Amino acid sequence: MTWQEELQENISSIEGLKEYIDVNPNEESLLQNVIDAHPMSITRYYISLIDKKDPKDPIRKMAVPSKEEQNLIGSYDTSGEKENTKMPGLQHKYAQTALVLSTNRCAMYCRHCFRKRLVGLPNGEVMRRFQEAADYIRDHREINNVLISGGDPLVLPTEVLGQFLEDLSFLDGGSFVRFGSRVPVTFPERIIEDKKLQAELDAYSRRDRRVYLVTQFNHPREITPEAAEAVDTLMRCGVVVNNQTVLLKGVNDNPQTLAELQNKLVSVGVNPYYVFQCRPVKRVKHHFQVPLCRGCEVVEEAKKRLNGHSKRFRYIMSHRTGKIEIVGTMGDEIYLKYHQAKDKSDIGRLFKRRLTEKAGWLDELKPVEEFPEPRAVSRPHSAQPHHRGHHPVHRYR
Ligand code: SF4
Repeated sequence: MTWQEELQENISSIEGLKEYIDVNPNEESLLQNVIDAHPMSITRYYISLIDKKDPKDPIRKMAVPSKEEQNLIGSYDTSGEKENTKMPGLQHKYAQTALVLSTNRCAMYCRHCFRKRLVGLPNGEVMRRFQEAADYIRDHREINNVLISGGDPLVLPTEVLGQFLEDLSFLDGGSFVRFGSRVPVTFPERIIEDKKLQAELDAYSRRDRRVYLVTQFNHPREITPEAAEAVDTLMRCGVVVNNQTVLLKGVNDNPQTLAELQNKLVSVGVNPYYVFQCRPVKRVKHHFQVPLCRGCEVVEEAKKRLNGHSKRFRYIMSHRTGKIEIVGTMGDEIYLKYHQAKDKSDIGRLFKRRLTEKAGWLDELKPVEEFPEPRAVSRPHSAQPHHRGHHPVHRYR
């Protein structure tokens, strides 16, 4: 069976689902409504990872629709993707990075997906002709990395991926191409068995122009021998594999699980890159987002259990205005820093907000100015700046 034929066997109906796991009969029609709005598609590999005896199994939560998805708090475009779109399927938010939405399909439709508005649904947002995207990138010399995402680009035919790489072959040393793909996690055999794909990656990725693959392992049980083999295969083709975990309620929102995940990733050769705050997406926020207050606790406690290599990740909120590092909390204040920003002058800006128990996103945090300023910290004389104006001043908003 080819990998395309295997994908045809995905579980995409309630009847099909019932062959693998128990479904509450009282919820069947609700689940059907959810699936009508946002399709279900689970690979036979991924469904085999579910603990059938546990209705709260974290793997199940990421793959199987639930009635919680009826909750519509949040938005479908939390990062301002629409306003950054330069042509159908191409976004240019940060000067150096172009993002190509290459397809609306994935090997599996994750229930926590932040591009829920797009995956598995007819949509005008995906790229029509890659060559036009490549022309835009060629005309914008400031772009030195191209992120090919979706959907999941690794469900496209290998010839199409090969053509993408060929169209980007004008990128010179100092540049790189990234694929955003969850295929190593949800459908590793696609990578392990496709020798042609391996040859394409091997041919493009060279010493001064690497191919990166950014994937999304969210739970230690996703790091199976098959997933590890897919990662190993990529590495043997010269591909660097980085991971972006999404912090998800009921999946990895405890220090032990998060630490085990990051440690296991490093042991199979994957670099911990980001831990993302779950975005306030409709049908996702309500049952997946962890409040920032708790998120900081989980991340800090996990870091205490990790060696330096395994805690290289940053805890990030991918906001409309930029990628904001969640630095930590002190009392009832949360400290944040622009790691990347739409407005260049924001990059590196440190600021703080008043923390509340339930806030899960920047827009839900109150500015500190509404509260009395904390008292100035008195420093020993030698540590006092001689000329205040010559020292970096952090603006707080
Ligand atoms: S693979 Fe990625 S894009 Fe596709 S549904 Fe999962 S999170 Fe969303």
